[in-house]
Amino acid sequence: MPELRQNFMTKEWVVIATERAKRPDEMVVRRPEKAVASYSPKCPFCPGHEDQTPPEILRLPDGNGWKVRVVPNKYAALSPEAKPERTIRRSRRSMTGFGVHDVVVETPDHAQAMALMPDAHVADILRVYKTRYNQLSLDPRIEQVTVFKNYGADAGTSLEHPHSQLIATPVISHQVRERLQAALRHHDEFGDCIFCQMIEEELHEQVRIVLASEYFVAVELYASPSPFFTHIYPRRHMASFGDISAQEITDLGRVLRTMLAKLYYGLENPDFNFTIRTAPAECIGVRYFHWYMSVIPRLTRTAGFELGSGMFINSVIPEDAAEFLRNVKVETASVDPRTTVV
Ligand SMILES: [Zn+2]
Ligand SMILES: [Zn+2]
Repeated sequence: MPELRQNFMTKEWVVIATERAKRPDEMVVRRPEKAVASYSPKCPFCPGHEDQTPPEILRLPDGNGWKVRVVPNKYAALSPEAKPERTIRRSRRSMTGFGVHDVVVETPDHAQAMALMPDAHVADILRVYKTRYNQLSLDPRIEQVTVFKNYGADAGTSLEHPHSQLIATPVISHQVRERLQAALRHHDEFGDCIFCQMIEEELHEQVRIVLASEYFVAVELYASPSPFFTHIYPRRHMASFGDISAQEITDLGRVLRTMLAKLYYGLENPDFNFTIRTAPAECIGVRYFHWYMSVIPRLTRTAGFELGSGMFINSVIPEDAAEFLRNVKVETASVDPRTTVV
């Protein structure tokens, strides 16, 4: 029978459509093989083209070159020059477009997918996120910092060179505020962190766990709105991503890379987004919120029912997705399976 499941925090309902359930491997979106070279003469993020980006904010050096760079987005959604000012005219509320929009150039190699990078390099990228997250969170004009990656056209990018982004905004989004308030209400009522409780339940039940390390747990969402919607939680209670320790970052590099490699091999290099959901600066250290990463393969499209009802239909059973991903074997050391390197 089909089943409706409710998200433990957002209270949103999802239809798990068992009647038209698909095997996890039926979700593969096959794209024509494309040979990508390690260097592109036209790419502004490739080594030797550093003058084609706005002035660099940060770099992890590598000899005379670099491993990771952070630059302002040339086509930024918001401007750091604007002064944050609100205007309220009856029902119309607006604000000047203040904000910071960084691009993290993840590697000098134009062709390297994060799923195939060495674990230590993924940890380097996470270290850069943390540095910028903490720097931006200190700015009193900034309320929320969102770290995210768009990989592939269905995830919203056409740019090939491996990159991710940070956007800092002068307001906290309604969606983030709702989650914070729901978690706070739970804490007031039951005296614990709703995430810590849920992680404990997931570890006990096992069926939705994809992998668990010393510091992190990757789990398929119980009320998963789309196939393979994965959360990676720190096992230690921590409200803000900015509080992650050095050891935890090293471990997360391995867990995230392994998770992405499972998707890469299991679902044939799907487009995906990932994002870090964290308590905003004003909530650093709170006991009721717990940060996590969402990894969302983009295998289906949002259609009319979702837009009209706010409810999602998912035709892959989360427990099947977890089992499928657990069974995708990934080398511990990164191996590059690209056969065509131009
Ligand atoms: Zn490039
Ligand atoms: Zn917690």
